[in-house]
Amino acid sequence: MKKAEILIIGAGPAGLGAAIEASRLGAKVILLDENKKAGGQLFKQIHKFFGSKQHYAGVRGFQIGEELLKQAKDLGVEVMLDARALGLLDDGSMAVLDKGRLTHIGAKKIILATGARENAVSFPGWTLPGVMTAGAAQTFSNVYGTLVGKNILMVGTGNVGLIVSYQLMQAGATVKGLVEVVPRVSGYGVHAGKIKRAGVPIWTSHTVVEARGDKRVQEAIIAQVDEKFKPIPGTERSLEVDTILLAVGLTPKVELARMAGCKLTVEPALGGHLPLHNEEMKTSNQNVYVCGDIAGVEEANTALDEGRLAGLSAARALGYGDEVTDARKEEFNAGLCALRMGTFGEKRLACKERIMKEWSW
Ligand SMILES: Cc1cc2nc3c(=O)[nH]c(=O)nc-3n(C[C@H](O)[C@H](O)[C@H](O)COP(=O)(O)OP(=O)(O)OC[C@H]3O[C@@H](n4cnc5c(N)ncnc54)[C@H](O)[C@@H]3O)c2cc1C
Repeated sequence: MKKAEILIIGAGPAGLGAAIEASRLGAKVILLDENKKAGGQLFKQIHKFFGSKQHYAGVRGFQIGEELLKQAKDLGVEVMLDARALGLLDDGSMAVLDKGRLTHIGAKKIILATGARENAVSFPGWTLPGVMTAGAAQTFSNVYGTLVGKNILMVGTGNVGLIVSYQLMQAGATVKGLVEVVPRVSGYGVHAGKIKRAGVPIWTSHTVVEARGDKRVQEAIIAQVDEKFKPIPGTERSLEVDTILLAVGLTPKVELARMAGCKLTVEPALGGHLPLHNEEMKTSNQNVYVCGDIAGVEEANTALDEGRLAGLSAARALGYGDEVTDARKEEFNAGLCALRMGTFGEKRLACKERIMKEWSW
């Protein structure tokens, strides 16, 4: 059995941030990810990020992933790619499918940074080829250079729906429009502005009610909804599209946390079920920490800082670091509060505060 002091599952910004901080303090760290590339969601982000220098403002997402991976490797982190954590065994070790071979990894502390999965909505015709999630279309386009369709309807106007729409337009697709079930655009104005300036319609208080086609999508039917989000008869309109993309939210991937006995709570504004955790990112299981989207769906910058915090906390619990480390943890916590400002951030901050109040282990 392979052994590490700290085992980190997921090499997105959260897992990479955790690996860098824990190994910098001297801990022996193994970081694994089921993908062949590290970076999590970052490796398909081709646009430049905004924010602060500390969060790589002005750098393209995939380059941030590459930079973090380099830092982790330079610090001696053992990075295992194409390695999927399957589950915790009774002896506390993690069963891992490493490039198709089953292996076990034992660790004193485990940090779960498994991210989130995309939600779907069902409607007549939704199983037709041509209906898929926005993130999948983004992976095809930005990682494999393949457009999933020429004429697209985007369902959802959160940041994922807005960003992916714009990137597909840049790649040569026509976005026929975006539908949004609530009466306003859900994502940032800066992303919505780009879509609007390109003349693409955004229909708020609208949803998709049917996908039609023979062997794949050929037509989408959309309709206006009432205040209970029910389609209003007579408002249907048809769009000639070959692709319907779903950008209807993300749900934290909590399976491994559940297996580890971590107590869960529900916060709809953070994506649904997620492990209770304290300001050190520790769960109700003393040896398991969480960070990033698994601890509540937010953004890459918050994921990175939560990861850094989890890495410092886990290493500190093993006896590494000193009071300077404790002061850095305070700084990261203050930084996270600062990131959770504005209309979107304050809601998330309130949820996090409630979660941490509920944590009592
Ligand atoms: C389509 C899409 C577009 C986005 N665009 C932006 C954007 O433009 N700007 C922004 O700030 N944020 C964006 N986000 C959000 C941001 O990317 C995430 O908040 C951030 O990546 C979360 O980081 P994370 O490390 O928690 O998770 P992730 O980046 O999702 O990384 C988790 C990693 O863990 C791996 N993993 C999961 N389970 C296992 C397992 N059992 N074994 C091994 N590996 C596992 C996953 O494959 C993944 O690589 C986007 C999100 C999505 C879905």
